[in-house]
Amino acid sequence: MIKWKELVYQLVVEFCNVRGKRTFTLQEFYSAHEDDFKQFKPDNHHLLPKVRQQLQLLRDDGLIQFLDGRGTYTLKGIELLKGEVEDEKVQEISIQTPEKREYLIETYARNRGWVKEAKEKLGLYCLYPTCQNTFKKPNNEPYIEVHHIISLYEGGEDAIWNLIVICAHHHKMAHFADSFTRQRLKTILTREVESRIA
Ligand SMILES: [Zn+2]
Ligand SMILES: [Zn+2]
Repeated sequence: MIKWKELVYQLVVEFCNVRGKRTFTLQEFYSAHEDDFKQFKPDNHHLLPKVRQQLQLLRDDGLIQFLDGRGTYTLKGIELLKGEVEDEKVQEISIQTPEKREYLIETYARNRGWVKEAKEKLGLYCLYPTCQNTFKKPNNEPYIEVHHIISLYEGGEDAIWNLIVICAHHHKMAHFADSFTRQRLKTILTREVESRIA
C-alpha cells in the first residue's frame, strides 16, 4: 500500500517532468493533481493541507526545498528531468562530476521551460556588464546560454530570480574559474537579474 508521502513525491517528479521545471507553487501542483489526490483518499476533505504537510515531510527528507517568502518549492538533487538534456547526451553526462554536469545540462538544454522563461524575460544578450560577445545562429537569432546563479545541485531554483542569460565565455567562467572570480561573478550577476525583474 503506497503512502501519502510516496504518492506526493511521485507526482511532484511527474509534474516537474511534464513542465520541464523543478520549481513550482503548492497551488499549481495541487490543481494539476487534485483528481489523483481525491482518488487516493476519497473521504479526506482536507486534501490541500494534507498535500502541504507531505511537501514539508519531503523537505525534511531533503528531497525538495522550500524558500520562505517566495511560496515556491524546488525539486532538489541533480537527477535529470526527462528531456533536461538531449537523450544521447545523458549517458555522457551521468559520469561527470556534479559541477561539470550542471554546466552540461545548461548548455545542452534548449527547450526547457526555464530556458524559454529566461530568454523571454532577460533577453538574448550576455548580462555581464559591458560584455559584447555574441554571434548569430543560422536562424539569425543571437546565440546565448542560460545559467543558474545558484546551481541546481546546490538546491538552486529554475525560477527567474535564479536565472541569467550569459555568453559562452562568461558562462564557462561562472563554472570553472577560481573561487574568488566565481564568487565575484555571482555577485555581479545577482545584481543584474534583480535590477531587471524588480
Ligand atoms: Zn551555468
Ligand atoms: Zn559575456
